[in-house]
Amino acid sequence: MNLQNIALISFGYFEKDLLEMTADAVKQEFSTPVLLKEGHIDLSDFYDAARRQYDGNSLLRQVDSMVVPDYSKTLGLFNVDLFIPILTFIFGQAYLGGRSGIASLYRFSNERYGMIEDSRFVLDRFRKEVIHELGHTLGLIHCHHPTCVMRSSTYVEDIDLKDQHLCPKCRDEIGIYTL
Ligand SMILES: [Zn+2]
Ligand SMILES: [Zn+2]
Repeated sequence: MNLQNIALISFGYFEKDLLEMTADAVKQEFSTPVLLKEGHIDLSDFYDAARRQYDGNSLLRQVDSMVVPDYSKTLGLFNVDLFIPILTFIFGQAYLGGRSGIASLYRFSNERYGMIEDSRFVLDRFRKEVIHELGHTLGLIHCHHPTCVMRSSTYVEDIDLKDQHLCPKCRDEIGIYTL
């Protein structure tokens, strides 16, 4: 796998620190340069009034049409509630072995689940989700290793149980050598 670089495009408001720490984690995990930039689209075009959520399939196509030239992978970062028709919600999704994906921060705060807010959890979950979706763009499917970041996660509790890293088998599959 010739992974030269990754572009992360944020849409809407994000804390700068959170974006920078996420970009750092991506840079380290994939040993590749990471570009962080802001994107501007009208999110109301993607709002489904009946579901009161945002259409994850249309947003993924939109990000795919905005891939950054000369960057091998582009991930769109959002802070809105995403859905696809067959699921109540999604944290993110990506084209398997493709050049783009999306991830949302929206469902990662503890407050949403009636727990005390702790921004460390939000950052921790978001980094894992971003690395997970990038793993899909690199052709990785869900992994059964107990703590691999490519393990499938339906709820935030599932995300909390895994690491922010690829397991040795997944690293090997995309050609990143394990130390
Ligand atoms: Zn997945
Ligand atoms: Zn794995």
